[in-house]
Amino acid sequence: MNSATISQNKQEAILSVKHIRKSYGEGKNRLEVLKDVTFNIKIGEWAAIMGPSGSGKTTLLNLIGLLDKEDEGHIFLEGTDILGLKSNEKASLRSNKIGIVFQNHYLVPTMTVKENVELPFIWSREKIDLAEMEERTLAAIEIVGLGDRSHHFPDEISGGEKQRTAIARALVNRNPLLLLDEPTGDLDSQTGKAILSIFRRIANQGDTSIIMVTHDPEAAQLADKVFLLRQGTISEL
Ligand code: ADP
Ligand code: MG
Repeated sequence: MNSATISQNKQEAILSVKHIRKSYGEGKNRLEVLKDVTFNIKIGEWAAIMGPSGSGKTTLLNLIGLLDKEDEGHIFLEGTDILGLKSNEKASLRSNKIGIVFQNHYLVPTMTVKENVELPFIWSREKIDLAEMEERTLAAIEIVGLGDRSHHFPDEISGGEKQRTAIARALVNRNPLLLLDEPTGDLDSQTGKAILSIFRRIANQGDTSIIMVTHDPEAAQLADKVFLLRQGTISEL
């Protein structure tokens, strides 16, 4: 990656999605999910993406997270056309630039909260010293308010606490882009609000951009801008 293209100018888009197309299946079974999706996110901005079930929200998030292959289009992250990278470059970019919270958390059941949060250090190829790793892990756990739960296993904590663990894991590498797929989907409204206030705090710090997929208008309202994905295209509300 060319670090010379990276600028921390606040007005600049950290993420620029251009004319993305994505379909599944072949022939009669072909389903065109994303037809022409174009939008920008600025540094430090929290964007919500809404849209009916099946409109392609998860598909879009997976493309931005380099977890699936587009048919056409470009995605620029900090000025780099990330879809054109080789697979090892994509893996390294995913671990150093993008934090992802999946809809169903994907916590490792045999690991404690703290060990789950430390996983990105193991996935990353970058060497980091143990003291720094410990400090960042505790900081991420603190941000989501899980200090007193860090030695529990996933089956010993609530749904909201699992979600917080997944968020802490996405934050631990201090990546500039956070992708969240229905982060309050199966939480009660009070727990959901507590989780959303974590995102507000992160966005207010100014160096992390957030894309949150949600079908909850109240959650979307808290974001800096809201997009609607429908019939394969996206528009800002
Ligand atoms: P959303 O997250 O907005 O509910 P998705 O992105 O999950 O929507 O799915 C969009 C459409 O693409 C749905 O009709 C879904 O059934 C279909 N789809 C998603 N993933 C695949 C896949 N791997 N193979 C075939 N069809 C898929
Ligand atoms: Mg989805």
